[in-house]
Formats: sequence, C-alpha cells, structure tokens
Amino acid sequence: MALALTLSLLTGCGGSAGTASPSAAQPESAQQESAEAETEGAGTGTQGAESGDTQTAADQTGSAIDYLVLVNRLNALPDNWEDDLETVHMTNSLGDDVEVERTAYDAYLELKADLEAQGIYVDLDSARRSVADQQRIVDEFTEKYGEEYVARYVAVPGYSEHHTGLAMDLYLNIDGQDVYENEDMMEYPEIWSAIHARLADHGFILRYLKGREHITGYSYEPWHIRYVGTGPAAEIAARGLTLEGYLGAVRETEVAVDYGNSSLYTTEDMEEAMDQIKCRMAVWEGCELHSLSYAGDAACTEDNLAWMNELGEDKNYTEVIEFLSDFHSPVEAAGSWAADTEYTNWQWWLARSKGGDWEIVTFGY
Ligand SMILES: [Zn+2]
Repeated sequence: MALALTLSLLTGCGGSAGTASPSAAQPESAQQESAEAETEGAGTGTQGAESGDTQTAADQTGSAIDYLVLVNRLNALPDNWEDDLETVHMTNSLGDDVEVERTAYDAYLELKADLEAQGIYVDLDSARRSVADQQRIVDEFTEKYGEEYVARYVAVPGYSEHHTGLAMDLYLNIDGQDVYENEDMMEYPEIWSAIHARLADHGFILRYLKGREHITGYSYEPWHIRYVGTGPAAEIAARGLTLEGYLGAVRETEVAVDYGNSSLYTTEDMEEAMDQIKCRMAVWEGCELHSLSYAGDAACTEDNLAWMNELGEDKNYTEVIEFLSDFHSPVEAAGSWAADTEYTNWQWWLARSKGGDWEIVTFGY
C-alpha cells in the first residue's frame, strides 16, 4: 500500500482550504466560516463575463467599486481596493459593529424589509473584514493557539471575499430568538430557501452553492450572500451559476458522485468527506474535477487506519475512508501534472477521530 505522497492534514472547506497540488505542495491553510481562509497564490484575475450583459452595478450607482470583483482562494483582493471603498457601520442585534459597502448595505436593507413582509427576520452577522483585521486575527491566534491551528482555521489575509465589503453573513431571528451558530442555522432549510428566492431582486447572489464546492472552494453556506447588482444577480440566479462560472474564471461543471454501498458510512458521512476533496480541488488551479466515487468498505481496514495514523502522527484517527476521482489536468503544462490529461481513479484517503471532521491525509496513485 505504498500510495502517494503528499501528507496534508486539513479539514475541508467548511473548515479549510489548502493549496496542495503536486506542483506546489505547501503548508495547507484552512479556515472556518468565521474566518474564511484562502490559499496563497497569485490572483489570476477574471476573464470577463460570459454574458453579454457586463454592466455592473457601479454603472448604476456612480460608485467606482467593481461590484463583480472576484475574491476567492485563488484570487486576492485587488490592490487599492480600499481607495474607492465607501462603507457604513451598523450595530446588529447582538451588539456587534458590522461594516458594509454603502450600496450593498442599501440593498441589504431592501432585502431585509422584503423578507420581513413575509415574516422572515434576518440580521447581519459579519460583513467587511479588512485585510489588516484578518492579519490581526492571524497574529493573535498564532500567539494563543500556535501556527498549526491558524493554518487550519484562519483565513490567509487577502483571500477572503469578506474583505470586499460586498459579502455578508446573515443570521436568523426566529420567534424572537437570534439563531446565529452555523449548525443551528442549518436546521432551517425552508427559511433559507425563501430568503434565497428573494436575493436576486435586490442584487444579491448565494455565493457558495451546494454541489459547486469544486469551483468555489467552500462548502455550502446558506447564509453567505454577495452583492453583485441586480442585472448580474438575475442572470446568475436564472442560469444557476457560481460567480466564478459567470465571470468565466472557471468552467461551470458538475461532479458525478457515486456513493456505492456502505454499511459503515452514511451518505452524509461521505458528503462531508467529498466536500473536503472538492474544496481542495478548487485550488488546484486549472484542474477540472469530473467524478468522485466511494472506494468501498473493503478499504476501511485496520491496516489502512494504522497507515493514516502513521501519516497523521498524533491525530488518533479512528475511521478511514477512500474515494476515487477522475479529473482533468491543466491544459497548459503546470508543475508535475502531465498537461491536458484525464487522470482516472486517483485516490483520496481521509481519516477522522470520533466526533471530528474528516481530514485529507494523502492522495495520489
Ligand atoms: Zn461569509
């Protein structure tokens, strides 16, 4: 069982991101929603909207801000972004100060009023976090919890969409009670659906779509919305696109998923593990993930668990799971990839300790 190669200890995109590609195996960074992380790497920029309608909200508001700016794990906040940024501050029901780009905040107030007319109450948990704020968090947490913790849970400054002031995390107020913990908010899918149905009319998109983790690099987040202006929002929603796909930065693709049969793991267990893989592939620039298949219960042996623990050192994993993936390598030669090649049955090994999150331990042939 001498498989590959790169040891990467990480939880996934709900909690992580990593830039481990064979060409650039580097320390992984990870993150939690509270501090959305990004990888390092130069921004690749975007290549223009696919659509004919490239008018941005800036045209309508007179603001110099590019409301279609792409900031993700591969694309940093543009230099000088803050020069043109005008923000407002508000205090949410929890007493927190929240800073938002001016036009986006006006749009949020309209959205909020629209939702209230339907008996749905939302508030802003978090909107703008400056690069400097993020750096302070990194410094403070490094001192308190160490580098490994920070690499795993804290965003790399510069690569969070929250830097723009255009991204907002909503929370709910249900029967007079604030509901703001991620796990708790996930319990209200019908409310989120009703919210999502109203976003486009006010110029917002749902940013991290279910099933598009391989493109966005993030697990599904029903609360994270992004202001892009009403024209683009309507088209993005109607076509079911990610912002990356709309801008032509990444081809919008589906991943074929095969759960196989397992008496060990539920579909949910597998989805959590596959989310990690998809988010990782999102930062392998130029690679296109086509399929993920559960490798079967036969791979979940004591020997393989021992192997995970050997690679993971003191992680004390209690469960192991394997997936096989097909993906296409970058069209242009990059790193150690064979250029423009379909890789099939590439293995992914993940492990977790009881009650913990899956971590990608190793991958390769
Ligand atoms: Zn967010």
